[in-house]
Amino acid sequence: MTRHCVCISNQKGGVGKTTTAVNLGLYLSRQARSVLIVDNDPQGNATSSLGLRGQNANGSLYEVLSGELPMEQACRSTDFENVELVPSSPHLAGLETERNQETDAMQFALARTLAACPRPYDYVLIDNPPSLGLLSVCGLVAAQSLVVPVQCEYLALEGLSSILRTIKRIRHALNPQLALGGFLLTLYDGRTRLSREVAADVRRHFPGETYTTIIPRSVRVAEAPSHGLPVAVYDPACAGAIAYEAWTREFLQRMNDWP
Ligand code: ATP
Ligand code: MG
Repeated sequence: MTRHCVCISNQKGGVGKTTTAVNLGLYLSRQARSVLIVDNDPQGNATSSLGLRGQNANGSLYEVLSGELPMEQACRSTDFENVELVPSSPHLAGLETERNQETDAMQFALARTLAACPRPYDYVLIDNPPSLGLLSVCGLVAAQSLVVPVQCEYLALEGLSSILRTIKRIRHALNPQLALGGFLLTLYDGRTRLSREVAADVRRHFPGETYTTIIPRSVRVAEAPSHGLPVAVYDPACAGAIAYEAWTREFLQRMNDWP
């Protein structure tokens, strides 16, 4: 069974990584794909967005990366069919300093434990933290492709050049198979000139790399996590949910995984 591992990453904070990971997971499951979401961020936003905050007593990504627990024992079912989660824990924040003697080996920790996991998921989605530290590198080393949410705001382009350099470096040194899935424009507000200009700039500089679908800024998307629900479930008719659904189709088409 093919299993494709996608890392959702951008060192910039608050650009929609977690929202993208959770809603991609939901809409993939609606297309009969089985999904594992790995919450690779000590903030635990993917965990709480799926209504599983505080349910890491039986093991979290921290124990998995520390080598104390096999991946399959940390996978939790969620309220959403075909979507499982490896929860985060605040301890993850300490991993880097605890393991600073073994950084080289730790970079492969997530890749190794995923490869050894016998469960046949169609897609593994890794929600990266907003940094370029050890956890982020673990996510990029474990993935075959990378989705980069880009907030439609000032300085977005500068960030993208540095992401392209990071991909090059990771490919060269650690994970030659890492491919750029694409840039996903998020938090787009068509009423502001800045949003429109940034979106146009990103498309002009990276025409082949930017997804056609744009995710609009939508109040319902912002409200959904406080209910422990992906917006795909909280309000499937709102503009943000519809955009994520359309983008999931585009994502699958780019993966050559659409009939
Ligand atoms: P971090 O870097 O802290 O992990 P992130 O990149 O994962 O952040 P999110 O947590 O997905 O970003 O989103 C940041 C905030 O913006 C959250 O409060 C989220 O609910 C909100 N948000 C994300 N996408 C949208 C959208 N399309 N419309 C409105 N609000 C959004
Ligand atoms: Mg996040």
